[in-house]
Amino acid sequence: MPSRPAMQFIPNPAPETWPSLQQRPAAGEAPQVAARVRAIFEQVRAGGDAALRQLAAELDKATLTNLLVSEAEFAAAIAQVPAELQAAIRQAKANIEAFHTAQREPEIRLETMPGVVCSRRSVPVQRVGLYVPGGTAPLFSTLLMLGVPARLAGCPEVVVCTPPQLDGSISPVILFVAQLLGIDKVVKAGGAQAVAALALGTPSVPAVDKIFGPGNRYVTAAKQLAAAEYGVAIDMPAGPSEVLVIADSSANPAFVAADLLSQAEHGPDSQVIVLSDSQEVLEKVQAEVLSQLETLPRRKVAAQALENSRAILLPDAAAMLAFSNQYAPEHLIIATDNADAQATQVTNAGSVFLGNLTPEAVGDYASGTNHTLPTSGYARQYSGVSLDSFVKKITFQRLSSVGLQAIGPVVETMAEAEGLVAHARAVTVRLASLAAGSASNGTALMAKPANPYAGLIRPSVERMQAYSSARDEFEGLAPVMLDANENSLGSVGPDDFSRYPDPHQRAIKADLALIKGVSPDQIFLGNGSDEAIDLLVRLTCTPGQDSIVICPPTYGMYEVAANLNDVRVKRLPLTADFQLPANAAATLAASKAKLVFLCSPNNPTGNLLAQEAIETILANFRGLVVVDEAYADFADALSWISRLTEFPRLVVLQTFSKAWGLAGLRLGVAYASPTLISYFNKIKPPYNISAATQQHALAALANAPQLPGMRAELLQGREWLGQQLSQLPIVEHIFPSDANFLLVRFNVDATAAYDELSSRGIVVRNRTTQPGCAGCLRLTVGTASENAQLVQALAEIGTAVPTN
Ligand SMILES: *Cc1c(COP(=O)(O)O)cnc(C)c1O
Repeated sequence: MPSRPAMQFIPNPAPETWPSLQQRPAAGEAPQVAARVRAIFEQVRAGGDAALRQLAAELDKATLTNLLVSEAEFAAAIAQVPAELQAAIRQAKANIEAFHTAQREPEIRLETMPGVVCSRRSVPVQRVGLYVPGGTAPLFSTLLMLGVPARLAGCPEVVVCTPPQLDGSISPVILFVAQLLGIDKVVKAGGAQAVAALALGTPSVPAVDKIFGPGNRYVTAAKQLAAAEYGVAIDMPAGPSEVLVIADSSANPAFVAADLLSQAEHGPDSQVIVLSDSQEVLEKVQAEVLSQLETLPRRKVAAQALENSRAILLPDAAAMLAFSNQYAPEHLIIATDNADAQATQVTNAGSVFLGNLTPEAVGDYASGTNHTLPTSGYARQYSGVSLDSFVKKITFQRLSSVGLQAIGPVVETMAEAEGLVAHARAVTVRLASLAAGSASNGTALMAKPANPYAGLIRPSVERMQAYSSARDEFEGLAPVMLDANENSLGSVGPDDFSRYPDPHQRAIKADLALIKGVSPDQIFLGNGSDEAIDLLVRLTCTPGQDSIVICPPTYGMYEVAANLNDVRVKRLPLTADFQLPANAAATLAASKAKLVFLCSPNNPTGNLLAQEAIETILANFRGLVVVDEAYADFADALSWISRLTEFPRLVVLQTFSKAWGLAGLRLGVAYASPTLISYFNKIKPPYNISAATQQHALAALANAPQLPGMRAELLQGREWLGQQLSQLPIVEHIFPSDANFLLVRFNVDATAAYDELSSRGIVVRNRTTQPGCAGCLRLTVGTASENAQLVQALAEIGTAVPTN
């Protein structure tokens, strides 16, 4: 064998030894290199352009007059580039342009939920620095590889740095390419000082945002320093160039050897590895390498590189691919007869060259792919330079009011769960001002305070995870539904109710939304409004700690719900005429209560609460203001539903139990802001409205036009009853009513009268023990016949019971 260095031959290494065979050369000098680079950065920082000149003289042995390439130098360059080379470069440029143009991504635009539009657009990095190695081998191809995508991306400022030749000039080919690309700023600086200038800026060299390009160890270390300490991005960490060739028995040893040498001639620290499952191929490749080396001008460099290089015999294709993926080569040549199939198994590589007719060199220059590729195993996680390297992908989002209302509660919930209250508030103030704006033409937009629900929602509710029902996880119908443990065979009984009902009651909400002029996400349906009352207490009050306010005499379930939840009840009694006391708003504002229940028309008194009093409370009380409108359909007042957008803490309760005549359905409704409703939904039982109820309610809603007729009939009955009662001697006072009942004070023992009525089969409500209701019975307006029976009975009782 000749004395020339051969590649190390390694037959069938055990997999445990692979990592040592995959080690890159030239690790270990880093500290000295880093220290030198740091010193150069300091020199450039202190000396600017003068330091660059000085370092050019010192390190490149070049005397510079002008630091930037002049117009005259540009002009002179073209003539010095042979026509044939010019044509070759133009062809390469066209291919690189074509392949990188194809990498352009159109703007993405997507409405992720109604009213929430997200988009992503590529925006060029504004200032880029391209490092083009020069000196003995000016790599004008690198300028093509970096300059073409920089131009295609539209980077407004492109600065090229390349080391000067001994006479202070720059290779004419590099200047030719620069002109071809329309780059007019070429700095005569190489090595770490060029990178320092690009990172720090000097009077002649603008500081850039991102530095690209390969280089020696000093350039690499300088780029790393720039990235670590100067906030400049770099294309990728770069090390010495490398190739790995997978050659089976179909490979041409001369081709393989040529590929290995084409890499080896890059530099003494280059690494080339050839894998084969054929010892014969490896031997022939070795022989070819040695003979081809003889005729290479850069044989000295290549020979040094071969000392780092290995020919490895492996059992089969699978082992070769495994070794290669573990090595993660910058360049991978698959010189086998089924290269395409094997290519699919490549997991780590910078760029891959398939088949015996595809030398790495085509990718280095002209096929169209980029030759700036990850080395040193970085192909495990980095891509080579591409159009993407020169752009940032900026995402945009825009919300409409619908979008804000849809996504706002989601974000509030998440932000609050993370304890980032200011985040939540950024949504909440907008939701509130939306609400205010739509009510008052935007004039109140500025005035709205922060999160209207701050501190209102019980912390355990904020924290808890909502139950996710089977029908939440899969929406809609499928031919086979085995997700909710229902009995697919059907129901016992006349109708089929074998399936769980819609947990969101969408159809009913859609109908109600139309009738009430709200959006479906402002509606909660409860198993009676009693369920809504209970959930309101639970939503806001921590047991044993918080309190609610009620205004007696009023509906009994408020207190029951509070007691049931171990929540304190504070009383703010109504006045003698059953109105809110003058100090109601002030008292509430001073209280720490979480909510107040206002019943209007009130049960059992029948009267509407004064609108101004409720408004004042809404404006001053920081808790929820629940206006229970169970009887609103009988009253001649505008529903508080119309004020929901104005008052984010307002909750309006209505029910199907009264005017609709559907008490048997157990269907109550809470109207509130979408945010509050989302809390209801979070804590409600999963299927709280039965399928039967939903079906029937839908039918009723379709017959909503019947409602006014029924109401008129009932009001007639109320009028008749009132008139009749007023003529009875035992009736002391009939309170004015906006409901379907009358509160009547008797001048006889009301309880005795109540008992008398009961004994006659007439059941009314004894309210004598309610504050302000001494001597009172509450009489529901019934059918004409029922009303007549009641009057008749009371007339008879009048003579029988003792007077008060
Ligand atoms: C009747 C009534 C209700 C009814 O509630 P449902 O549970 O829907 O039947 C609620 N609030 C008041 C004040 C009532 O009188």
